[in-house]
Amino acid sequence: MLIGVHPNDAGGIDLAVRRAAAAGASALQIFSAKPQFYNEKIAVRPERVLRFRQAMAESGLALSGCLVHAAYVLNTASPEPEKAERAALGLAKELERTEALGAFACCFHPGSAGAGDPAAAVERVGDAVARAVAAVPGQARVLIENTAGAGRTMGRTPEEIAGMLRRVPAALRPRAGYGLDTCHLFASGLDFTSSPAAARSLIDRFCDVIGEAPAFLHCNDSEGAFGSNRDRHALIGAGQIGMEPFRWLLADERVRAIPCILETPHARETVADDDPTADPNDTAMVARLRELAG
Ligand SMILES: [Zn+2]
Ligand SMILES: [Zn+2]
Repeated sequence: MLIGVHPNDAGGIDLAVRRAAAAGASALQIFSAKPQFYNEKIAVRPERVLRFRQAMAESGLALSGCLVHAAYVLNTASPEPEKAERAALGLAKELERTEALGAFACCFHPGSAGAGDPAAAVERVGDAVARAVAAVPGQARVLIENTAGAGRTMGRTPEEIAGMLRRVPAALRPRAGYGLDTCHLFASGLDFTSSPAAARSLIDRFCDVIGEAPAFLHCNDSEGAFGSNRDRHALIGAGQIGMEPFRWLLADERVRAIPCILETPHARETVADDDPTADPNDTAMVARLRELAG
C-alpha cells in the first residue's frame, strides 16, 4: 500500500523526499511552490526537477506515489472575476509544475462561492480544471479535494464534485478526478465513523455519484466535532474520529489502490535545511497506518 506524508520542505523538495523516506513512507505530498501565493507565473527550475527526481530514485520512491498540493489561496470558485481568473491561471501553473516534476497529480481546494450563486461556482471550478488540463499537455491529473464545508466553500458533497467534473470535456476527462480528506469528510458531516458499513457506503456514494473512485485519500483525524465544519487536523487516534474508522477505510479495496497521505501535525516546527531526518510524528503515523491497514 502507498502510505505517505507531507514533510517539511526546508532546504528544498529533494529534502522533503528524503524526510518522507526516512519516516518509512512509500508515498508523499509536496508543494510545488510557496502555498501562500498564487504562483501563476512561477515555473519549476530544471535543476530543481533533477534534484527532486534524483532524491526520489535514491529513496526508492515512485513518482506514481507523489502528489502535489496546490496553493491554498487558489479560489477558483470566487464570484469576483479577477480572483477567479488568477486562481484558474494559478491552477494551470500548478499542473505545469506537477507535470515537470513527474508527480502523478496535483490536488486543490475548490474555494468559496462567497456571496455568489453556488451553482455558478461549481461551473467556475470545473471550467478552471478543464482549462488547466487543456493548457498543459501530458499525463498529470488535476484532482478536486473535498472540503470541510465551512462558510460557502464548494466541494463538500459528491454531487458538487460531480458537477465540477462534468464541465471537463470527455477527451480531457481522464486527466481530472478527485480525492477525499477524512478530516474534511467528518467535519462536513459525512458519516464513515459509525460502523464499517457506513465507511463502505460513503465511498460507494462518492463512486456512484461521480462515476469513479477517489484518486487519493488524505488520512487525518479531526480536532473538530462531526459536522463542525472545522478544518483542524489531528494525529490519527488523537482526534474525534479515532482509530477504528481508519481501519475500516483502509480495508476497502478502492482505498488500498490509491496513495493514502497523512497531513497530521508535525512534532518539529522548524527543521534545518540540511537535516534529512524524519519528523517523529510522521514516523509514528506511518507505522500506525500500516498497522491499521493490516
Ligand atoms: Zn488539502
Ligand atoms: Zn484540511
